[in-house]
Amino acid sequence: SHRIMLGPLVAAIDQGTSSTRFLVFNSKTAELLSHHQVEIKQSFPKEGWVEEDPKEILQSVYECMERTCEKLTQLNIDISNIKAIGVTNQRETTLVWDKETGEPLYNAIVWLDLRTQSTVERLINKTPGRNKNHLKHKTGLPISTYFSAVKLRWLMDNVDDVHKAVVSHRAMFGTVDSWLIWCLTGGKSGGVHCTDVTNASRTMLFNIHTMEWDPELCKYFGIPMEILPRVRSSSEIYGLMKSGALSGIPISGCLGDQSAALVGQMCFQDGQAKNTYGTGCFLLRNTGPKPVMSDHGLLTTVAYKLGRDKPACYALEGSVAIAGAVVRWLQDNLGIIGSSEELEKLAASVGTSYGCYFVPAFSGLYAPYWEPSARGIICGLTQFTNKSHLAFAALEAVCFQTREILDAMNQDSGIPLTQLQVDGGMTSNRLLMQLQADILCIPVVKPSMPETTALGAAMAAGAAEGVSVWSLNPEDLSEVTSEKFEPQINTEESEFRYARWKKAVQKSMNWET
Ligand code: ADP
Repeated sequence: SHRIMLGPLVAAIDQGTSSTRFLVFNSKTAELLSHHQVEIKQSFPKEGWVEEDPKEILQSVYECMERTCEKLTQLNIDISNIKAIGVTNQRETTLVWDKETGEPLYNAIVWLDLRTQSTVERLINKTPGRNKNHLKHKTGLPISTYFSAVKLRWLMDNVDDVHKAVVSHRAMFGTVDSWLIWCLTGGKSGGVHCTDVTNASRTMLFNIHTMEWDPELCKYFGIPMEILPRVRSSSEIYGLMKSGALSGIPISGCLGDQSAALVGQMCFQDGQAKNTYGTGCFLLRNTGPKPVMSDHGLLTTVAYKLGRDKPACYALEGSVAIAGAVVRWLQDNLGIIGSSEELEKLAASVGTSYGCYFVPAFSGLYAPYWEPSARGIICGLTQFTNKSHLAFAALEAVCFQTREILDAMNQDSGIPLTQLQVDGGMTSNRLLMQLQADILCIPVVKPSMPETTALGAAMAAGAAEGVSVWSLNPEDLSEVTSEKFEPQINTEESEFRYARWKKAVQKSMNWET
């Protein structure tokens, strides 16, 4: 059999909250040639706690790589054509490991985790004027359970092994990107301990203006700077794969998942935006080389820095904690669906929630409220309400939450978006896409190649100095084919439902008092 000639290939590790993927793209056409995906177990050891096993995460990466290489070989594609590997990851999720044994010292604390709620409330109460935005001028972020610093503080205070490792200078902190890059480049025998600017900007220890770890912030949270990874750009060679079929290939791209999706959707211009529907939902709008501070509850974050000598670009971000996670909840906790695909059929069977509103504030509310004490509610129930209506209300909740962050984004920028570019696992749900267009009153546009997050990381890897198989000139990038969902209901109806939703949100925040 003869080998197919394709030119250079680029790959990406996409380590998300619910699964890990490895994907290989043709660098000329951006065509996805092969991939493999493995689910990740989440554990909920106590109310509000969310953890994942760092070794399972690493193992899933190796498994996805091996299986993808097997598939490529079956397709007669030579894996030696893979010239670079990019890493993209669930952000904020916090790990500490021992650099001498290579062993994780606790489970990864997942971004959604609420165990630090009381710490966060105490920190906010200590600030002048009880201001959750006390550190925003440096970090772009409100003090919240969401970001890594408080999770790391919790680990140091509550896990003896972590405390001991820190004191004896054996501890390494990292988000998932750092953990993977360190392990893949050799781990305890010479692994590279680094992160990129986008991931660093989600820790609350990073100054987004100077683009360095901030000694004052580290002091504020009591974090010794020696345990932090070195911060690099999102596109440069960090190290080489140490073992396996891809041994010797450079790892040369690293972006937090939402930044990677922004790059993969080619949102390189000031004002361009995308919304990704995964476990949570994240709307990012590129604001160019200057950080813009929000007056409406959005985050300011580093969008990307595609090369050591390239300028950083920033983004405004609206983060929604619970999107696909509500689908998982309907499946695992209520058992009203057997799989996420079943949700669409169930909801479509009624086509309305019949006045039922579902605010899935399982992890408090993120943007634009930043209210850790909010909790989920389902309201507007009657004798008539059934599981189909509940399914519909769950889909609508994702759309309403997006509407809230889109409104905030439009108010901050003064220039309303005229359409919304979308991606992520939930966008395979066509009913959701139509509902989203209806509730936003603007068209929703979905690329035909859904793996934009991985594509962004692969692009960053392929464009790195010393690899350079991929140009990031917008003119050279191939035309993206897409599908468009137009609004089908009138604005009045849309506004009526949205107003009801807002009432429900108020109840989710105030039901305790
Ligand atoms: P992440 O990157 O956060 O791991 P993905 O982008 O892989 O997430 O999307 C997975 C999420 O999308 C899961 O929470 C899953 O429940 C949800 N999902 C997948 N397919 C559908 C569908 N057809 N309808 C609704 N939700 C879906």
